Amino acid sequence: MASNTTEFARACRVLVGGVNSAVRAFRAVGGTPRFIDRAEGAYLWDVEGKRYIDYLGSWGPMIAGHAHPHVVEAVERAARRGLSFGAPNVLESELAERICALFAQVERVRFTSSGTESTMSALRLARGFTGRDEIVKFEGCYHGTGDSLLVKAGSGALAFGTPSSAGVPDSVARHTLVATFNDIDSVAELFDTHPNAIACVIVEPIAGNMNLVMPQPGFLEALRKLCDDHGALLIFDEVMSGFRVAHGGAQARCDVVPDLVTFGKVIGGGMPVGAIGGPARIMERFSPMGPVYQAGTLSGNPIAMAAGLATLDLVAQPGFYERLEALGERLVGGLNHVAREAGAALSAQHVGALAGLYLLPSPPTDFAQTQTQDVERFKRFYHAMLDEGVYLPPSPVEAFFFSGVHTDSDIDATIAAARRALAASA
Ligand SMILES: *Cc1c(COP(=O)(O)O)cnc(C)c1O
Repeated sequence: MASNTTEFARACRVLVGGVNSAVRAFRAVGGTPRFIDRAEGAYLWDVEGKRYIDYLGSWGPMIAGHAHPHVVEAVERAARRGLSFGAPNVLESELAERICALFAQVERVRFTSSGTESTMSALRLARGFTGRDEIVKFEGCYHGTGDSLLVKAGSGALAFGTPSSAGVPDSVARHTLVATFNDIDSVAELFDTHPNAIACVIVEPIAGNMNLVMPQPGFLEALRKLCDDHGALLIFDEVMSGFRVAHGGAQARCDVVPDLVTFGKVIGGGMPVGAIGGPARIMERFSPMGPVYQAGTLSGNPIAMAAGLATLDLVAQPGFYERLEALGERLVGGLNHVAREAGAALSAQHVGALAGLYLLPSPPTDFAQTQTQDVERFKRFYHAMLDEGVYLPPSPVEAFFFSGVHTDSDIDATIAAARRALAASA
């Protein structure tokens, strides 16, 4: 019979570190990665037949649950009509129309095949539009693996202690100015020291790649004002938060309107999709309308568009986000309760279906606080939860995700598991 251990050994012989995305390798928690055989609804099953309640959600896309019949049927129907055309198909317009309807400033959309591609292209667009070279990002925010953005990055880069990657030339990294999330003075200082040189500020409006860190009141408003005062574009990277923290994304919660938005994850429903959206006057600098080149063989792929559309059908059903809020309250309330009971330094919070679990007495409000968690204790807690059949993202600096098909009893089972895991990992 297949085992995770033998499959991992086999994978390591042909794949770098046995994986195709670094965070999957369990380096931050130790032990053997689980090889997933199948997924349905709120559950994953590994090759040993063990079932897990899934709080990874493929790192964000699976907000409607795994293998939802509506999505699977849409993919099957699309697949029978051809896998890729390299010419326009109407599903691209349909998905773009849905995005434009929900994000008021978005008049044009360009689809890509990943979040990485969308943030890379958004930067190029901002530079092409403003004629400036410098960009501002925040320490601990993650925007995919584009060279300019792998500077003080979050997510896996952070979990491995290499937030700035080898292989990024200094001449490239030099143009990435790094500010501190929730510290507006750190941004103002960069605008002062680089007058008329900053093309854009890119930010996760609700930061989800240094674990979950909420923007403090006034922070995003102040960013908007600084960008306006200095003629720079504000880019909200909503690859994670879009359609997850609210139907209209983080911008619906904070009432700040960015110039450009990047999407991914949920809009592909589990297929590879990314997108950039914004007003026509900026977006039409992209080729073929303007001089900023952007293209992709599989961009707007019909199967991926079909999966995204079907997923957006599901999240548009009445009560979907109310249900997510209720699940989040139940889960976070329960986790905070067992932590208090156990006298453990553990806390949790959520915004929509995006959640954070921290080995800290209360949720962090900045990057520095996220770095003070007891990593050894997290490893013990993580594996105790895995043994209990609860699959969390394998790192203390990752947020976690749930779906509209998690049930109250899944949540209650998770809280009970956390109670035992806390005791076992104290
Ligand atoms: C996941 C993520 C990306 C990168 O998306 P990929 O599809 O993995 O390339 C970019 N930005 C944010 C905020 C993300 O969470």
